[in-house]
Amino acid sequence: MLITRQDRDFLISELSIELQAKPDGSNKNLIVPTCIYCGKTRGKMGIYIGKETDKKKLFVSHCFSCGHTTKDINQLLDDIGRPDLKLTETADFRPVTELNPFFQLEEGDEIDDELAVVDMPEGWKRCFKNPYLKERGFTSDDYDYFQVGTTRGLNFRFENYVVFPIIDNKDIAGYISRHVWDKDKIEEYNRKARRAGKYEVRRYNNSVENDFSRLLYNYDGVMEDETDTVVIVEGVFDVIALTRKLELYDNRQIAVVATFGKKISQTQIYKLQAKGVKTVVIGYDSDALDAINNTAETLNEYFDVYIAKIESAGKDWDEMSFWDIYDTFSGNLKTPVEYKLNTIQVQL
Ligand SMILES: [Zn+2]
Repeated sequence: MLITRQDRDFLISELSIELQAKPDGSNKNLIVPTCIYCGKTRGKMGIYIGKETDKKKLFVSHCFSCGHTTKDINQLLDDIGRPDLKLTETADFRPVTELNPFFQLEEGDEIDDELAVVDMPEGWKRCFKNPYLKERGFTSDDYDYFQVGTTRGLNFRFENYVVFPIIDNKDIAGYISRHVWDKDKIEEYNRKARRAGKYEVRRYNNSVENDFSRLLYNYDGVMEDETDTVVIVEGVFDVIALTRKLELYDNRQIAVVATFGKKISQTQIYKLQAKGVKTVVIGYDSDALDAINNTAETLNEYFDVYIAKIESAGKDWDEMSFWDIYDTFSGNLKTPVEYKLNTIQVQL
């Protein structure tokens, strides 16, 4: 069916009002808060409004909860009780081949963002002062904006760890637990422990209930429909260091989140889209060229993407001075193509 631009815009605005739907960050999908077929809330249903391609037809809808797909806009209009909006011209109707127009998923795949609520380790209590965190540059703002605590000698499994809850929609969805010793000290201790047949200590002792690919650290710092730019970094300490050094604590337009490693999952992408994020800046360690290029390519389908090119490779955000970081953001944001060209030249 040939849909004119006028018809298209008119239908998008009518569907938005009728279904209280909003475009996602990429402007390619209308996210419908309540699926009209299964009634599931939380925006599992989408209607494709992006550019029509061979694979993706305009107004194809799909729900990731019940799996219902409606290929024909007129059918959808019947189903929502608005037959008055139906298009009459059917001369150029082309069959829809692609079932899932969203997020380039394979048929049958589903964005699964369900999360279990997790208990913090027994004895955990927030702290506002800690020698290890002080050494890593923590300020009183950091303690206020980013919860962290210890088990205060009440839980031997978490002795000498600092534990950060991962909060998602105000629920605790996991925690990152970091031993306060440095790598050398842990290795030395473990050598002795092995000989003595004692327990070894691990650098991290994290929650196991939810897969970390479904989580983003500082997700609640992304404000729905307000935050348009998100910087993605690898870990909790990167989020806090960058927020501190760029003074982003109360900034509602820009937020820093961690993907727990050098890649981003479809669920994490969906979570950012669902809050209306438009621009993503990749702030991964610049020694991970392939990981950065791959992530940029993945993200480029859904967001405007930039890469923060840190000049001193191998440096973490929490080791960089304010001015290093300032220079990176003011003069060294690259598009994915620029970055690729740039890094290829370096390798030559
Ligand atoms: Zn549904």
